[in-house]
Amino acid sequence: MKNDKITLAHGSGGKLTHELIRQLFLPNFSNEALSQLGDSAILQFNGARLAFTTDSYVVKPLFFPGGDIGRLAVSGTINDLAVVGAKPMFLSAGFIIEEGFEMSLLEKVVNSMKETAAVAGVEIVTGDTKVVERGSVDNLYINTCGIGVVNNGVNLSISRIEIGDKIIISGTIADHGLAVISERESLGFSPSIKSDCAPLSGLIGRLINSGANIKFMRDPTRGGLATTLNEIVNTKKYGILINEQNIPINNNVRALCEILGYDPLYIANEGKVVIVASANDAAKVCDILKEDDLGKDAEIIGEALKEPQGKVCLKTVIGGTRIIDMLVGDQLPRIC
Ligand code: MG
Repeated sequence: MKNDKITLAHGSGGKLTHELIRQLFLPNFSNEALSQLGDSAILQFNGARLAFTTDSYVVKPLFFPGGDIGRLAVSGTINDLAVVGAKPMFLSAGFIIEEGFEMSLLEKVVNSMKETAAVAGVEIVTGDTKVVERGSVDNLYINTCGIGVVNNGVNLSISRIEIGDKIIISGTIADHGLAVISERESLGFSPSIKSDCAPLSGLIGRLINSGANIKFMRDPTRGGLATTLNEIVNTKKYGILINEQNIPINNNVRALCEILGYDPLYIANEGKVVIVASANDAAKVCDILKEDDLGKDAEIIGEALKEPQGKVCLKTVIGGTRIIDMLVGDQLPRIC
């Protein structure tokens, strides 16, 4: 590999993370389930299909408008199960705690995990606690794993995407990343930007049960919408064109992005899903999303096109078209 040291960008979810996965993890752990590179691994077990996933949370600060590390750790893993079409069922929770961390804060985080799990109907059934010397970690890190069941008849796969399929986003982008960075840097932006951090299993379950022809879903977390769309088209014989005009963004998020020089397309979301659906069913998918508070700002934002193959293009509001690459470097470390 080019780098001989790990950089923050290796954890960005963008180009260097993908390089690390493809050059180190994939060849060494090589197996069929991993090679799919889904949000969860899909495992065949006694005739059932299980979805299995894990994620670690190192967000700084631990508490931010709209959420905290506990809500994030439960929602994020639930969402990685939900987007592969699974009903999330059981979670584990591993805590790495810095010596001296306030017990009252840990209680707040655990209560938040309890509430989020209850809303989504999942149980935290196993866990682990480690405490390390002061200075060895920054307050608190949490790892969660999740297991869910994929019902018969659910068939989501990137390989089902065809030219003409529509791209849908379930709501406004960039809220989570901006909320965390505003809180961390004490930007005092008023009204404060709230994270979208939420479990999407209820919303996604209703979509799946509707019978709409959904081809593929992914939650656009680190690396944002731009990186998720690039993961979809990467090495494929089609491209994706999205319309800037149709991408929902809260006004205060747009304003802060302009002030700070961030592109909202690359900022993390923690309560949004990108859905690729057949052209015939895209409006129906959007209507179902809009019935739910978590999907009320859903929009059809683009489609899969024949050209340019393997690329994501953005039609800008002023009428030009530009290529949108995967995130390079790391805009905002430790936002999840
Ligand atoms: Mg994901």
